[in-house]
This record gives sequence, C-alpha cells and structure tokens, in this order.
Amino acid sequence: MKIKISIALIFVIILTAVFYKYMQTSKDEVIQNVANKSLESMDVANKSILNTYLLVAEKNFYDIMQNKKALEILREFKDADEETKAVLRGEFFRLLYKEYDFLKKQSIRQFHFHTHDSKSLLRFHLPYKSGDSLKDIRTSIRVANAELKTMVGFEGGRVLPGYRYVFPIVDKGEHLGSVEFSVSFEGIERKLRKILPFYAHKIILEKAVSYDKVFKEHIDFFVPSQFSENYYLENQDISKVTRKTQDDSFVNKLTSLAKESKDFLQKLAKKDSFTVPIIEDGKGYVVTFLALKDIDNKNAGYVVSFTNLQEIVYIQKRYQDFSFIVFLGATLLFILIVAVIVQIQKVKNESLKLQKFIDIQNSIVVLTDGKKFKFTNKSFFDFFKYADMEDFLNKHDCICELFVRSNGFFSLADVKENEKHWVESLLNLSGRNRIVSMIDKTLTPHAFTVSINRYDRENYIINFSDISDAMTEKLQLQKQIVRDQLTKAYNRVYFEKTIDSLIASNTSQNKNTGIIFFDIDHFKNVNDTYGHKAGDDVLRIIVDLVKKNIRSNDKLIRWGGEEFLILLPANSIDEVYKEAEHLRKTIEKHEFDIVKHLTCSFGLSLHEATADIHESVKKADEKLYEAKKNGRNRVVFSFI
Ligand code: GH3
Ligand code: MG
Ligand code: MG
Repeated sequence: MKIKISIALIFVIILTAVFYKYMQTSKDEVIQNVANKSLESMDVANKSILNTYLLVAEKNFYDIMQNKKALEILREFKDADEETKAVLRGEFFRLLYKEYDFLKKQSIRQFHFHTHDSKSLLRFHLPYKSGDSLKDIRTSIRVANAELKTMVGFEGGRVLPGYRYVFPIVDKGEHLGSVEFSVSFEGIERKLRKILPFYAHKIILEKAVSYDKVFKEHIDFFVPSQFSENYYLENQDISKVTRKTQDDSFVNKLTSLAKESKDFLQKLAKKDSFTVPIIEDGKGYVVTFLALKDIDNKNAGYVVSFTNLQEIVYIQKRYQDFSFIVFLGATLLFILIVAVIVQIQKVKNESLKLQKFIDIQNSIVVLTDGKKFKFTNKSFFDFFKYADMEDFLNKHDCICELFVRSNGFFSLADVKENEKHWVESLLNLSGRNRIVSMIDKTLTPHAFTVSINRYDRENYIINFSDISDAMTEKLQLQKQIVRDQLTKAYNRVYFEKTIDSLIASNTSQNKNTGIIFFDIDHFKNVNDTYGHKAGDDVLRIIVDLVKKNIRSNDKLIRWGGEEFLILLPANSIDEVYKEAEHLRKTIEKHEFDIVKHLTCSFGLSLHEATADIHESVKKADEKLYEAKKNGRNRVVFSFI
C-alpha cells in the first residue's frame, strides 16, 4: 500500500510540475505579448516624430534655396582659393547663424553645409572644423551629392550622430553642394515624452557608429552604456537626455533589472526590437528596445524606453491564484487517490477476511440471486469434484441442479409454478423441511439443512450444513427404499427417483445413457428343479457377479422377478454391446453351486436425452424378447 501511495504521490507531483511548467511558460508568453504592445506604440511614435522633423527640415531647406546671397556664396566657394574660402565661410556663418539659433531651438543640433564633392564646408555647430572629406564617413552626404537626392535617416558622424536630413543644393542647373539638418536624440526624446508622457527614453548606439567614428578629440563625447560594452551613449555634457537619466532612479533601477533579465545579452546581440517585462515589488514595468537602423540599413543601436506596465502584475497575480488552485486541486487529488487506495485495501482485506472466514466454515456457503451462482467457499470444492468456479459454471448454472430428487428432500421438482426460483421455494418451506440431498465426489449421498440469509437486495447467502450423520437412519431408509431386499440391487423406485438426474449427469459429460435389459433363461426350471430357495440364491449370485463386472458408475436395477436393467453412460450402442457381451460370457462361464450352469438373454438400447426414457426401456425389452425368441443366451440390439 505504501508503494501505491508513493506512486500516486510521484504521479501527482509530476502532473503538477508539468502543469506548473506549462502555466509558467504560458504566463511568460502572455506577459511578453502584453509588453510587446508597447513596442508597437514606440515604433509609431518614433516614425511620426521623424516625419515631423522632415517637414521642419524641408521648410528650412526651402528658405535656403530662396536665400540668393547664400546661393551666391556657395557658388563662389566652388572655385575659390583657400584664403577666399575662409573669408566666404565667415561671411556664410554671419549670414545664417540666426537661422542656426532658430534651428537649435527646434533641436536641430547640426546645421552643416558640404561642398559638391562631399567635403565639410561649414559646420554651424563647429565652425572652425571644416574641409575634411566626409565621403567615406557619411553615406547620406556622399549619396546626396553623387545622386542629387534627398537622404533621410539616422547616421553616426565625425562629431555627433543624429537623425539626418541631407538635401543636395542645385541652383539654376548647377550643383553647389549639400546641406544637412541633423536632429539630436534630445529633440526626439522631448517629442516622445509629449506623445508618451509616462515614459523615459534614452538612446544607446553601437560602438561602431558612435565611438569608433567620431573625431579623436571628441572621443569623450561617448561613454559606455550600462547595458553592454558594445553600446555607447552621448555623455552628459552634450546630451541633456543623458544628464537627466543618469540620476533618474527609475531609469537606473529598470536598467539594472533589465540587464539581469533572462537572455538579455542574447536579445541585445540579435539587434531586433524587443521588450523586457519586469515585475518588482508588486509593480510592473516594461523596457522597450526599439532597434534603430541607420541610413545604410545597418543596426545603429536602440531607442530604449522605460515605463510602468501594471497590467502584467495583474496577469502574474491571476496566474498565481490559478497556481494556488492547481496546488489545492493536486493536493485534493492526492488525498482522494490515497483515500481510494486505502478504501480498496480495506475492502480487499475485508473480502480476504470474509473469504477466510467463509472458508473455515465446514458448511458449504453459496452466494446466489436464485439464478446465478456468484461465490462459494472451499468446502464446496472439497465436497464436489469441481476444480474451481469456472469448472463448475461450465457444467451447471446453479447448485440447485445437484439436489437429488428423493423422498423427504427438496429438489428442483418441488419448485412450484408461482415461485420465482428454488430459493423462494425453500423459504416457503418450514425450517425443518429445508433439507436437500447432494452426492459428493465419491458418489455418496449427503443430507444438508439449508439456511438462507439475505445478503443484499438481490442476493442470498445460502448455507448448506451437512447433517448426514444425524440423518443416517433417514438416508439408510432412503437407501433401503430404493434397494431390492433379496439381491440388494437397486429397484424400480430407485429408477424412478434418479433416472432424470442420471440422464442429466450423463448429458453433462456429453454422453447418452445405455440400457441393458437382461433376463435369466429358463429360470422357472431352476425353481421347479431345485426349489424356490435355490432360485433365490441364484438371483443373489447373479447380482453379485454382474456388480463385479460392471463399472462403478453403472447402475444395476432389479426390474422385476428375474429381469434386470443396467444403466450406463455410453457414447454408442457398440459400447453398450461390449459390456453386455462381457456379462453374457461371464454368466455363461460361471459355475453355480447347485445349478451349475446358467445363461441370460440381453436386449439393448441407447437412450438419447431428448427421447422418452420409458420408450428406450421398452425398446431394450423388445430386443430381449427377440433374444429369447432367437434361442436365448445372446445379446440383441438394433442400430436405430
Ligand atoms: P424364459 O427363458 O422365457 O425367461 O423362461 P423362464 O422360465 O425364465 O420364464 P418365466 O417368466 O416363465 O418364469 C419366471 C419365473 O421366475 C417364474 C417365477 O416363479 C420365478 N421367480 C420370479 N421371482 C422369483 C423370486 O424372487 N424367487 C424365485 N426363486 N423365483 C422367482
Ligand atoms: Mg426368464
Ligand atoms: Mg422373465
């Protein structure tokens, strides 16, 4: 039982563990999906902001194209010597620095003119730095000048990275160079905060597009990010965003929690957008990493946004409640299984005890509903020749079929039409008349008193106690009634009482019943010659002689006078003939004391269960008559 309970426990634990694992995964998935929704809004917000800046840049570019003086300087610059260029640069700066002040207010940090061959002409944000070639560093400038098309997108640079808007300047069919408006992340962030007020944002840039690209003297513009050494961010001197977020405990806390989250560095390395849902101290947060592509469609870094997301706490809570219910369910299931195991064991023990108890009873105990035989005890198998229940049920349906029909004993023949079954018949009898006779495996009849108790709604427990000893006299008397006084062979009373069960017993063994009818030849002469007593002696001797020469199951019946009947189980008339012929020869050979030699004549028949037994006996009698007619001392039968 302990093993069974352990197995049940392991089963319940495994089941629960699998369920928990499944729930955990599905919870994580649901939370991740909810968190990913904020990624979508981030993406939309970013795109719309970049489009807004495109409008601003286009407007400013339009103003420049309308500025005749500016275009004139640019045209002059094209063929000027270095000295003139320096003068022109100063002139250009003075012409447009107010414009630059205005642009700065709109977070357009870089206002940068380039020559037609992609060299820096004037950086308004860094006026003393010019003349350097940007061809290999700035795709946007190179393409804008080479293909004369507007370039928009994020890009690193020699000074600062930004969202670039580069326009080629073509006036009166002449390509004069290009102009760039570059928006700092600061500007983007300010607008992002307007659209998504509960967020904090920062930008982290791949080392290759920031730190590695910048002028050596500006290398300290970038500091490593807290997330990974592959990502840098603008330092606090040049970025208000960095300044602000550096001391922001909310951002710092979420930054370190995100860093600790599962597979964080792998996700970062994939360079696709992702989110990190975080639950800490009963509060929900999400950190979104919106992948930033540069103008070459290369990964430039991430726009990282931090916000609250209480919904995931509710999801977590719901799963926790559900887990508790599952735990409760599993515990109940386990208790239930244990209870069932204990109950089964109890029933098993009880039924074992009951079986034992019933088995130690000397009497035969049977459980039946009056029709079906359901259960019995050891005494039953000790008494009868059946090996087990199956063996019995193959031959009979009911123990009642074994009741011998005999005077003073109850048998199936006593069941009345209005009675449901034999048990009811027995119940209708008075207690002392509930007596049946059954024949044991040594073919000895026994007498039993029957006591009947209800077991449940349908079934009875029926107890057969052997009272043969107490009934010896009655059984003896019963024996005498069925035996012929002179020869001790059975008589016709026996025949009448037992013939049905005898035929049934033969049928149950798949056999027919053979009938040997024989009569002593010229017996009258014995009486006449040696006297009646000598005749009686002959009858006795012949009975003894025949008894010795038939099988134990064969029944010898004195039919009347010097006529006898033998009933034997037989498969064929041939088998019956063999036994009769053997008897005929035995008698013929026997030397009787006074009479010396005698013969008998035999008539045979084979009775099949469906036929009328009296007809079968009559048939054998007719054959005996034929034997007499044909000269006596012979066996006659027909195959029909
Ligand atoms: P068959 O060969 O034709 O049978 O000739 P049978 O003389 O044997 O036949 P029958 O029927 O003429 O004679 C039977 C005799 O058996 C008549 C009767 O007196 C005798 N008998 C019948 N019962 C007994 C008995 O119990 N004791 C003695 N001693 N004789 C008996
Ligand atoms: Mg005779
Ligand atoms: Mg006769």
